[in-house]
Amino acid sequence: MGLMMNKVPPPPKHNRYIFLKIKLFLTAVSCGKINVRKLWNVFVCSWAYFFKTKISATSPLVLSLELGNECNAGCLFCRDAKGRIYNINPQHPYIDSISKGRMPVDMALDIIGQLKDDVLIAVLYTNGEPLLYKGLTELVRFSTEHKVMTMISTNGLLLTEDNTRAFLNAGIDLIKIQLGGMTQDVYSVQIRYGDVEKLKNNIRMLARLKKELKSHTVILIDWITYNYNRHQIPLIRQFCRECGLMLSFRQGNPRGGLEDKETPLPTETLPMSCDWLWKGMQVNFDGEVLQCCEGVIWSGCKPYAVWKTGASQLKDIWNGPAAQATRELMKTKGRRSMSICKQCQRTGIAFKW
Ligand code: SF4
Repeated sequence: MGLMMNKVPPPPKHNRYIFLKIKLFLTAVSCGKINVRKLWNVFVCSWAYFFKTKISATSPLVLSLELGNECNAGCLFCRDAKGRIYNINPQHPYIDSISKGRMPVDMALDIIGQLKDDVLIAVLYTNGEPLLYKGLTELVRFSTEHKVMTMISTNGLLLTEDNTRAFLNAGIDLIKIQLGGMTQDVYSVQIRYGDVEKLKNNIRMLARLKKELKSHTVILIDWITYNYNRHQIPLIRQFCRECGLMLSFRQGNPRGGLEDKETPLPTETLPMSCDWLWKGMQVNFDGEVLQCCEGVIWSGCKPYAVWKTGASQLKDIWNGPAAQATRELMKTKGRRSMSICKQCQRTGIAFKW
């Protein structure tokens, strides 16, 4: 009851993750993952975005890979009870129109290898659970060896002492763990499958191993705020204090059955341009090179190209005719020029919310 009485401020509409960015930057500097060439690439991407040029820098500064889109948690906002991923393109069937698969490890290595000298960070997940991907440690290790930062976002349910040691030793820079309840009844409102006590133990184990191994990895607990879990915010604050972990808040997505009970997400078309087209690149599990990560759950998003391992050159695609045409559309007509962008609430190239 005491907890119910706590006054809890609403989460910011868009979390800008300022402290996380600062911490990650400092971590990257201390690990030698930032150099003049990478900073130059960041500068040129930002310059190209500012002036909305058709050609951006040599390489995106963020590379996002959908390694696989299966998931063990089955969150209501993401997929139905049969695991079918919701399609956010209203022109296509809501379910059964997003295909599933895994990216071959060779493809991921080829892509990271081509951008390694310029790209700042490889984001090794998009929609699926990255801990289900068998080659994850290999990709993190390869990236670390080539001074590319890596991050994953996970539901944390599959963390074990073995895989955690492996990721930390491989040099992963950021692990973000989503959490939306501190007791099983609250956690289960949104997450279909998962034991919150096991998850909390996994997080404690991760925090312990980070200390034991003297790992530089930043661990962020990503509290997804809904009306139904707001009263547990003091509990998660306490938990993160005890484990020595970073905590951030964002608004939850009510799709999948909570629409009548929760604050709807904004739907208006944003008036500003989008950084992604000049700074980030997405590759889907099947090799489709997409304009951004929204494309993996928007069926019919026309790819810039389809990746052929050992033959494709990402830098050519990044500044190729399709990418240039998309930038030009955004520059001249804004987000209204593309139906995928019309509905999109992304600002910057950080996390979606
Ligand atoms: S506005 Fe949204 S959908 Fe369009 S390119 Fe940017 S991130 Fe992608």
